[in-house]
Amino acid sequence: MLDTTRVYSYSAVLMGSPILLKLFVSDEALASRVFRLIKHYEDLFTVNRAQSQVMDINHAAGQHPVRVSSPVYALIKCAKAASMLPNSAFNLAIGPLVKRWRIGFRGDSVPPGEDIAHLLTLTDPLQVVLNDADESVYLALPGMEIDLGAIAKGYIADRVRDYLRKEGVEQGLINLGGNVQTLGTPAGNWSIGLKKPFSQAGAMVGTLEIAHKSVVTSGVYERYFEQNGQIYHHILDPHTGYPLDNELDSVTIVSADSIDGDIWTTLMYGMGVEKACAALRARPDIEAIFVTKSKEVILSSSHHYRFTLLDNDYQLIG
Ligand code: FAD
Ligand code: MG
Ligand code: MG
Repeated sequence: MLDTTRVYSYSAVLMGSPILLKLFVSDEALASRVFRLIKHYEDLFTVNRAQSQVMDINHAAGQHPVRVSSPVYALIKCAKAASMLPNSAFNLAIGPLVKRWRIGFRGDSVPPGEDIAHLLTLTDPLQVVLNDADESVYLALPGMEIDLGAIAKGYIADRVRDYLRKEGVEQGLINLGGNVQTLGTPAGNWSIGLKKPFSQAGAMVGTLEIAHKSVVTSGVYERYFEQNGQIYHHILDPHTGYPLDNELDSVTIVSADSIDGDIWTTLMYGMGVEKACAALRARPDIEAIFVTKSKEVILSSSHHYRFTLLDNDYQLIG
């Protein structure tokens, strides 16, 4: 019987994010292998360095298709499908706008309107041409850029879960900075904190108790800058080229797979609370927690987790 009273935590910084692995056995070697696996995927997917398979595609925009490895192809195919949903706020071809705004990176500022208008013409997901036969990707217009920042952590969290399971780990947790994926039910459940927006590290609105689930949070308070009293955050509206503007401070998704959580947080941002709750009625496997600017915590449903409100500034609805 595993002793789940003693937790072993291992941390690293990868993908510009603090990474935390929790196990109930002391296994430094296993933790190193997990971090190497994450690094392997980072090296394939990153657009924050000159070279990666995704950068190879971006460098060849308007010139020629690029054959990529199966994980890269599969993730791009999945990201394109999410981008093609009706009125989708998710767009894998958002890269030129992300690069121009630089939100969360040095040199971020509001670009001139004409720059945004021009860059919007380079973000049509239909111009990401996929070829299943040779697993190649072609960006049809020069200047186009794929950005997997809204989905890659989810994909990687799922691969870490699969790897831990293959290694015989029954209880474990990986946190990729916003993407939590879990195995097992230590002492009943895993308890995951829901961050209080725009507050000091460690401040929580509440906690979620889950088992065998992923919890993904996307918030406007994670990466943003302020200019003339206005907050500009990193989730861009692919239809306007500006940060998505609605009643939300954060969206959290509880789902089996973290990739779904990552996709749906972005979709939900585009929909707002009412439409998002309506859309989730058709997906009982995916549940959302919305934290609004007016300090409400709204649960779309809560069949697969238990939520406890900790901060009395907030009102729980649902
Ligand atoms: P999410 O809400 O899940 O995603 C927001 C991110 O998705 C944005 O930052 C942008 O990249 C992209 N995006 C914005 N709008 C849209 C849209 N409408 N549709 C689709 N995508 C959109 N950060 C660093 O500081 N340094 C690094 O070196 C670095 N390397 C990374 C390498 C990899 C492989 C990955 C996956 C991330 C890396 N990051 C790095 C973090 C990255 O820049 C994003 O900030 C991060 O992925 C955002 O994740 P999130 O879960 O907080 O937000
Ligand atoms: Mg994310
Ligand atoms: Mg996301």
